[in-house]
Amino acid sequence: MKTLAGWLLIAGLALAAGAQAGAAGAPSAEAAAWGKAWRTRNPVWRGLHLAVDTGRQAEQLQAELPRLAAVGVNVLIAEVDYSFDFQSHPELRPAQYVTRAQARALTAAARTNGIRLIPEINCLGHQSWAANTLPLLAKHPEFDETPGQHPGNQGIYCRSWCPQNPAVNECVFALTDELVEAFDADAFHVGMDEVFILASEFCPRCRGGDPARLFARAVNEFHAHLVERNQVEMLMWADRLIGAKATGNSEWEAAINHTEGAVDLIPKDIILCDWHYGKRTEYPSVPYLLGKGFRVWPAAWQPLDAARALNEFAHRQKDPRMLGLLCTVWGKVRIPELAAWPPVVETLPGWR
Ligand SMILES: [Zn+2]
Repeated sequence: MKTLAGWLLIAGLALAAGAQAGAAGAPSAEAAAWGKAWRTRNPVWRGLHLAVDTGRQAEQLQAELPRLAAVGVNVLIAEVDYSFDFQSHPELRPAQYVTRAQARALTAAARTNGIRLIPEINCLGHQSWAANTLPLLAKHPEFDETPGQHPGNQGIYCRSWCPQNPAVNECVFALTDELVEAFDADAFHVGMDEVFILASEFCPRCRGGDPARLFARAVNEFHAHLVERNQVEMLMWADRLIGAKATGNSEWEAAINHTEGAVDLIPKDIILCDWHYGKRTEYPSVPYLLGKGFRVWPAAWQPLDAARALNEFAHRQKDPRMLGLLCTVWGKVRIPELAAWPPVVETLPGWR
């Protein structure tokens, strides 16, 4: 007859084994091996970020991959958000969504073309757009940082979820795990840009809280789940980690809501996508974040002369943690025309 200590030992070994192989949300052995080989072949990242909201868009993007690879793209950030056939939370699926089979096919085709595919859910902020509240808060209004406030989303930019509601992470981690599995990914982009509603007076948990600590808490909980638990590389937008006043940036591309102190409260292995869409001669947040010890991936958009300016500034940074350039499109170009879009054509091929 086994002793209590014996049973505890067996239970402990079983738990340890479960945490290693095939844990939900951890990259497959194939994904990890492919990602390792990709990193060896690709010292610079020539990226393209776009929304993939429907199965049709996933298929269009798949057809476009050879042309994207030919123009130099070697990373795609696919912002799926809630537009996926989620099994853990089917209530979040919109009318049109990407299926697991479409995600798998897209990843397989991306690998054939040497492109690393990284899925994204925009987390924390951006939970509404104009009058439309996105599925997470529409279906779970109890997760809202300002529950019952701002009818019709009038007077606000976007809703946020509450970073201190433990039920939010339980839900969202199930979603990130499903996307990592479906896209057979070894990296994940958590978004987190333009979070304006934080430490709200309308949240009983966060009222009076320090925005930098609350923002860092959200980042650190994603890091614990994605990176520490699952060995998934983590990317995020950088705007809440830089101060608008110190950098001379707008309140969208940098913070005026006191989150920037979070930069010293989060792990340095997170890749920071530092977006700037205006033409300037200097982009001081880029050397600032590099100096903090992060890998930095500057992100450009339009107009073309602004994309050129950021690209040239990025090239001037002689730091091994400078990754390359990420082009965003924000719906301004149709998927079949991506590879001919001037900001992509003019900036990405120069990164070798
Ligand atoms: Zn809250």
